[in-house]
Amino acid sequence: MKITDVRIVYSRKPIVLAEPWRPAFWEPDVEPWKSTRFDFFEILTDEDIKGIGPSLYFSSLSPTYLKFIKKALIGSDPFYVAKFWETYMSGRTDVPGSLGGVDTALWDIVGKALGVPVCRLFGVYRQKIPAYVATAQLHSPDEHAKEAVYYRDNGVQAIKLRLHRPNHEDDLRVVEAVKDAVGDDMMIMVDANQNNLAPNYNYWSRKTAMWMARKLDALDVFFLEDPLPLGDTAGLKQLADAVDMAISGGEHARDIYHFRDLLFSGAFDTVQPDVILGNPGLGMTGMRRVAEIAQSVGRLIIPHVYTGGVCGLALAATLQVLASVKNCSYVEYPLEPPSLTVENQHGLLKEPILIEKDGYVRVPQLPGIGVEINEEYINEYL
Ligand SMILES: [Mg+2]
Repeated sequence: MKITDVRIVYSRKPIVLAEPWRPAFWEPDVEPWKSTRFDFFEILTDEDIKGIGPSLYFSSLSPTYLKFIKKALIGSDPFYVAKFWETYMSGRTDVPGSLGGVDTALWDIVGKALGVPVCRLFGVYRQKIPAYVATAQLHSPDEHAKEAVYYRDNGVQAIKLRLHRPNHEDDLRVVEAVKDAVGDDMMIMVDANQNNLAPNYNYWSRKTAMWMARKLDALDVFFLEDPLPLGDTAGLKQLADAVDMAISGGEHARDIYHFRDLLFSGAFDTVQPDVILGNPGLGMTGMRRVAEIAQSVGRLIIPHVYTGGVCGLALAATLQVLASVKNCSYVEYPLEPPSLTVENQHGLLKEPILIEKDGYVRVPQLPGIGVEINEEYINEYL
């Protein structure tokens, strides 16, 4: 089999949200999202098999990016996915953008050619995994408590809250209110997003991060995500050593070497690789390798899943990897209705990936990454 072409399919029309979405990680000067979009790779072959994989926003990529990928792939055998990964994704720094979606689309072709979901090629460990609902907006303690109760009553086992209020005591009040409302029924995770770029955000010092970590530890929070910049490995390690709660992060890490250093230095107790973020990124191949590195030092991976119109496709690829991995306790599930819904984040899939009544998401079982594209939906937005 030979690759004949590589395309990026992307929505030209906005996928309008029912209500604007105001993610906390750009506070306080957030320009709310009024719409979302999708972008994904299609890799074509001479055997009529088409591989798909999620992409970052095409408009944010360099003009040479697609040219680079075509040159790397056209004429080659898609089964040589390890060779592609080793050549272009194993940490070399001269790559024009993330190649995670390309690696994913290659695995999709391999699975389709063999008629099995990719997890069966990796070796299956599980068929389902608990999801945590990732919220991203700031509300009052009461509103967050109500939201958590709603999810708890629908079987969801875990929820993530954001810490971005100018007064740190106010962040703690939100966590306390949610804990009071759901008790031990739900696990609570928190994300401080200290590695995101928000010019007027009140960033934490090491001292503040330590003070917050101790308070959150006493509230039985499962993990504290990104409490300091990703580059402050020593500061992160101090936190990880000081508290029982897990210190978590890594959604912006570049490649497996970056994850190796973060894990071997003791900066994180859990790492959060994403199939498409990072440059050159990880893809499915790299995420499996990160899981193995984490396993070797007794750590967990709890993957980051990209929010927006391509979320369902990114989640499908992530789940194929997690199906083959032991040291993972949750998968992220971005959801914040009425703004971010299953409909607008999974619309490009024929079958959305849902959190079921037991709080688990099932690993999709069709050949390849397990899902099919809803062509009608795509055409609506082209
Ligand atoms: Mg995060």
